Amino acid sequence: MLKIENLHVRVGEREILKGLSLELEPGRVHAIMGPNGAGKSTLGNVLAGREGYDITAGSVSFDGQDLLALEPEERAAAGVFLAFQYPVEIPGVNNTYFLRAALNAQRKARGESELDSMQFLKRVREKLAQLKFSDTLLQRGVNEGFSGGEKKRNEIFQLAVLEPALAILDETDSGLDIDALRLVADGVNTLRDAGRSFLVITHYQRLLEYIRPDVVHVLADGRIVETGGPELAEQLEEHGYAWIRERRVPDA
Ligand code: ADP
Ligand code: MG
Ligand code: MG
Repeated sequence: MLKIENLHVRVGEREILKGLSLELEPGRVHAIMGPNGAGKSTLGNVLAGREGYDITAGSVSFDGQDLLALEPEERAAAGVFLAFQYPVEIPGVNNTYFLRAALNAQRKARGESELDSMQFLKRVREKLAQLKFSDTLLQRGVNEGFSGGEKKRNEIFQLAVLEPALAILDETDSGLDIDALRLVADGVNTLRDAGRSFLVITHYQRLLEYIRPDVVHVLADGRIVETGGPELAEQLEEHGYAWIRERRVPDA
């Protein structure tokens, strides 16, 4: 589904990703953990197609397509959801209107018919019910004045409505309290599906206590240095990132 091979990425003179390889399986929740500054957000940003990153080597294929050759909108149409594309505030633009436009742009790019307002409203109601969300954020401006938790709720709601095959969430360490982490975790758990993969990027082991990923990868110094099951997150919590750096397996 997603295959990253030997990815090298520079910002300016500095190499940040140094030969990163990673493969995601369909229908699985993969977590990426790693110390601060390891390159986790850089990886998310590169997959999102954000500017300012120099890809000097390597490849990323998604469902057989060259992801790096696609524009951000084309990536979305191909079924990739990138949470950080949306937390921007767009004051005065109605949240529901924005989401319908995003969904219909994707459908159009795939050659599917656009949803009219009745069909869209039906989907919105289904997703609100599935997630047990209220409709209070829908008529506000996109992320306008949203709290950290409200932004997270909106992000999960966008994910639910857009129904991507691959959802990439960068849960940056700053400003997320335990309620917001739980909200993200509950959302991911509710939206887990055989036809959908998640790439959850986090510094926090705590998030993974609620999500229980199928696969855990450790990113350190620009590469994936360890891959394992959920127990890997627990080992990291216990031993810290130092034992990964030392490439030492702890005693059982
Ligand atoms: P993480 O998300 O794992 O904490 P980042 O991907 O944000 O790590 O950053 C990796 C390293 O690259 C850090 O040392 C950071 O300072 C550096 N870096 C990231 N983006 C930029 C940038 N735009 N300009 C310069 N350095 C950057
Ligand atoms: Mg960081
Ligand atoms: Mg980060």
